[in-house]
This record gives sequence, structure tokens and C-alpha cells, in this order.
Amino acid sequence: MGEATGRPQPATVGFVGLGVMGLPMARNLVRAGYPVRAFDVRDEPVRELVADGAVAAGSCARAAEDRDVVLVSLPDSPQVESAVLGPDGVSEGARAGAVVVDLSTIGVSVTRRVAAALSERGVAYLDAPVSGGRRGALRGALSIMVGGPAEAFDRVRPVLGVLGATVTHVGGCGMGQVFKLCNQVVCALNIQAVCEAFALGRAAGADLTLLREALSGGAAGSWMLDNLAPQMIDGDASAGFTIQLQLKDLRLALEAAFEAGVPLPGAAQAMALYLEARAHGEDANGNQALFRVYDRLTGHTDG
Ligand code: NAD
Repeated sequence: MGEATGRPQPATVGFVGLGVMGLPMARNLVRAGYPVRAFDVRDEPVRELVADGAVAAGSCARAAEDRDVVLVSLPDSPQVESAVLGPDGVSEGARAGAVVVDLSTIGVSVTRRVAAALSERGVAYLDAPVSGGRRGALRGALSIMVGGPAEAFDRVRPVLGVLGATVTHVGGCGMGQVFKLCNQVVCALNIQAVCEAFALGRAAGADLTLLREALSGGAAGSWMLDNLAPQMIDGDASAGFTIQLQLKDLRLALEAAFEAGVPLPGAAQAMALYLEARAHGEDANGNQALFRVYDRLTGHTDG
């Protein structure tokens, strides 16, 4: 990708959505030498990225104009649909031949609708949700699960390689989102398992730091034990990946399961615990705040 000027030029990049994930991803692209033009409805992250060398855009359309690749990292389906297809959206700016890559976790049917609308304008669309959290985004070490046309995937592969250590083309349009929902089912059940083990250990007088270390070295080891359990133990609820976003992902997984007629008793139970957390005002806290549900279930009060 990029203009032919004797030696290969890096692809020009538009970036929409500079949140917990988007800002570090966009920053990694700037540092890797990609020309990035970025937009967010909030000014602050745009200013931060401009200080690193990006150019600010005043709208999604402007971020997409004349770009080879337009990356989108937004909370949920409605934001992606309006940022891409709405007034002043990406589709108004994107040129024929560009590739729009959605890094957000959103619904499969919305994904296919957006892809079809862009395709009418000669713009390719890839659903490319990510796993690995803020740390993975900061380190350029995400796992990226990409659905959509193989030819478009091949063209944006170098750009995605800056963001992720594992970049996998997993099938046609929407399959990236399917993989990500499967990923979220594993994550939700795994963090619930860690909370339960910690609740049991704590009630029996265990040192949770020792418990975490011992479990990490054996068959119970997991990303959750490595990355979120230390914050559980410290009572640090800062996000990260919020309770609200995981509730959205569980809703998407359970909707997909309903449509497919597949019972997911574990995910349904995990969702009940996340709803309990939300009812106690934990929406904006990190996923490790699920342990606070077990504080309440067990009458634990001393933090
Ligand atoms: P976030 O809420 O921190 O960031 C979203 C950004 O989008 C915000 O900066 C917001 O101002 C901006 N925004 C909202 N509407 C917009 C619009 N119409 N136009 C332009 N900007 C707009 O969310 P996040 O944690 O960065 O997550 C982004 C996506 O990545 C979500 O789909 C989430 O499920 C997924 N994800 C998050 C994590 C994580 O650890 N946070 C991990 C994996 C995947």
C-alpha cells in the first residue's frame, strides 16, 4: 500500500476512536512511521496523539479522506454504525479502494450491514476485534481476529502487525466477531473462576498473593490470574476493560447463542454476576471488580 515513490511508502492511516484501546494503538502506528489522521468526539486524546506526530481531523469523514486504511475503535454497534455510515461518517470520506478495519467488538449482523453498505462504494471492510486489553494495546501485542475478504486482509496485514503479535484471518465477514465472542465467553468464565477460588481461599484464611502465585504455575494458570488478579488482591478497580464493555460482549454472545439455539449456561450465569456489579455502580470499573460481587456474596467488608 502507499504511493510508489521509488521505495515502498507506509500506508496512510485514518483512526477513529481514541479510547483505552484506540489511543495506544494509534500511537504505536505513529511511532512505527505511519502517517495517521485521527478523530474522536473527545478533544483530549486527539491532542495527546497530535503531540506524538499525528494530524487531527474534525470528523470521521475527514479522518478517512484519501487514506489507504481507516481503523475504527469504538464502544458498541450503534457508535460504529453511525461513525461509519452516518452523516459526516467514514463512508463519506473514504475513497474507493480503501480498507476500513473495525477493531471494536460489535454485533455480527451490524458488521455485515456496514460491510455491504461500504462495498457499494468500492470500500472493503474487515471486522478485526482484538484481545489482550490495554496492556496488549500498549505493547503492540494484541491478538487480532480478522473476518472479511482475504485480499483486503493481505493489504492491511503490515498495519495490523504493528498492533498485534497474533494477527489471524479467521474467515469471511463477521467471523472475526464470532471468534471474539467465543473469546469473551472464555474470559468471563475464567474471571468468575478466579473470583470463586479467591473467595474460598480468603474465607479459609489463605494469603491471596501466595494463592495467585501458586495457581499461576499450575493447570489453573491463566491470563486473568496473571493480569487482573493482582488488581483484585490490591482492591484496585481501575479500568482497563470495563464491566460495562464486558456486559455488552456477554449480551452479544448470548444473542448469538440464542439465534443459533445454543445454550450457554456458564455465560448466562456470568452475565448475572456482571449485572449485579452494574447494579452496585461498578459500570466504569475494570473487570477485576467482579471480585466485589463475591465480597457482597460472602459479607466481606474490609476491602
Ligand atoms: P473506550 O470507551 O475507552 O473508547 C471509545 C472511544 O470512542 C472514546 O474515546 C470515545 O470518545 C470515542 N467515541 C465514541 N463515539 C464516537 C464517535 N461517534 N466518533 C468518534 N469517536 C467516538 O473503549 P475501549 O475500552 O477503547 O474499547 C473500544 C472497543 O474495543 C470496544 O468495542 C471494546 O469492547 C473493545 N475492547 C476493549 C478492550 C479493553 O481492554 N478496553 C479489550 C479488547 C477489546
